[in-house]
Amino acid sequence: MIENEKPRDHCGIFGVYGHPDAATLTYFGLYALQHRGQESAGIVSSEADGQVFRVHRGMGLVSRVFNDSALRGMKGTRAIGHVRYSTTGSSSIVNAQPMVVDCARGEIAIAHNGNLVNANILRDELEAYGSIFQTTVDSEIILHLMAQPKYGDRENNLLYALGRIRGAYSLLIMGENELIGVRDPNGFRPLSIGRLGNAYILSSETCAFDLIQAEFVRDVEPGEVVILDKDGLRSVKMDSFGVRPSLCIFEYIYFARPDSLLKGRTVAQVREELGRQLARETPVKADAIIPVPDSGNYCALGFSRESNIPMELAFVRNHYIGRTFLQPSQLIRDFNVRVKLNLVRDFVKGKRVVIVDDSIVRGTTARARVKNLREAGAKEVHVRVSCPPHRHPCHYGIDFPTHKELIANEYTQAGIKEYLGADSIGYLSQEGMFKATGHPKDEFCAACFTGEYPVPFPKDLDKFIMEKRRSQRQTLAASVVEDTQQRLL
Ligand code: AMP
Repeated sequence: MIENEKPRDHCGIFGVYGHPDAATLTYFGLYALQHRGQESAGIVSSEADGQVFRVHRGMGLVSRVFNDSALRGMKGTRAIGHVRYSTTGSSSIVNAQPMVVDCARGEIAIAHNGNLVNANILRDELEAYGSIFQTTVDSEIILHLMAQPKYGDRENNLLYALGRIRGAYSLLIMGENELIGVRDPNGFRPLSIGRLGNAYILSSETCAFDLIQAEFVRDVEPGEVVILDKDGLRSVKMDSFGVRPSLCIFEYIYFARPDSLLKGRTVAQVREELGRQLARETPVKADAIIPVPDSGNYCALGFSRESNIPMELAFVRNHYIGRTFLQPSQLIRDFNVRVKLNLVRDFVKGKRVVIVDDSIVRGTTARARVKNLREAGAKEVHVRVSCPPHRHPCHYGIDFPTHKELIANEYTQAGIKEYLGADSIGYLSQEGMFKATGHPKDEFCAACFTGEYPVPFPKDLDKFIMEKRRSQRQTLAASVVEDTQQRLL
């Protein structure tokens, strides 16, 4: 893998403390979080305090990675699990999480959701001092920082490590005697606390609590470190003076599951409100509202209820498609577009239809759907999008393309309409989007729409090249040698 192909770690994490079936519960929890990552899955468990960790990781869906015998071997009262999302090129078992090390401080396992903006800088520094990295994921940097003997006990060392990393991170860390949950000071990614009898559960999303019949207790606060051990739950606040919380708004729009609770509101309800607001802002005369399943379902429902135009479930989704491994050709590309969704023609023929989706990123999906609707005989096709135009890449873990590839940067709104082949196009306004969440604007990160990034990032993040990094590392290593020699003199 080349370095500027670094994987974006948009993932799901789940952990259990104090239950005899911790690994099995984690397996169920990962099932509920599968939408957050399909590339790899893994669980680490520990039978009791001080016992060795058991690890099972693999590529693909949770159902494929685990079977009966794998889970039977994972006895334990504590476990953490991870599902990983990644884009092309960076798929590899070495990058699968949770990651485990056995160091002077004992065994430590970590599962990370998010993206560190200073990962390259820290990695170069650690390598200059002799660290040898096994993977290309950010979480390994946190392990190296924690393993350093500088700051005394494990808790202080963790706080030291957290003080050095910047960016988006919801973490689960399992030590030999405890389970720790961390949310970065901005709270970019969600993390919630649940209870099942006497056991504690930590999960990226609350939908996983429902599956294992755990009770939702509360969200981990931005900047909070939650420590679970034999004495129960303890909370420590990170030093995050002056940082305002900024949950990623795209969790509400697309990423989180509709049945999850985020900042006290059910995601489905927020999406319905986004659809209603969209109908108010971009009204249209039409005969049918058609959602793009599943991402457009709730906003289309809101649009339909607000506009009094009936919703037709015209797209039928095939739920059983895996990856196709055939070489790309025109035939295969057509197949890929058609296999996922097919149309009930009678719901569309001769009608003025409004197709509603959560977002347009590159525009490929929307363009294909407009074409499908025209071929099925729609008289007019209007496109409505339940968020503003995407103009900026995400540096905190959502896999959006670069500036150039985002269609809203390439074309004007009229140009996008032309490109999609639509009769009209309407996006939700930024104000409308914030209003629909029911929370103040300044409680979110909406950098992909506004370009206002809450945590600064190195400007050359995307165009870091290997050679430049190598020479920088050599210079750094040389100065470390010089420094050590001087201290020895
Ligand atoms: P496109 O405009 O063809 O790039 O696709 C946009 C569609 O992909 C949207 O309707 C979303 O449902 C979905 N989507 C948006 N962002 C992401 C993402 N980061 N990862 C995967 N799917 C996404």
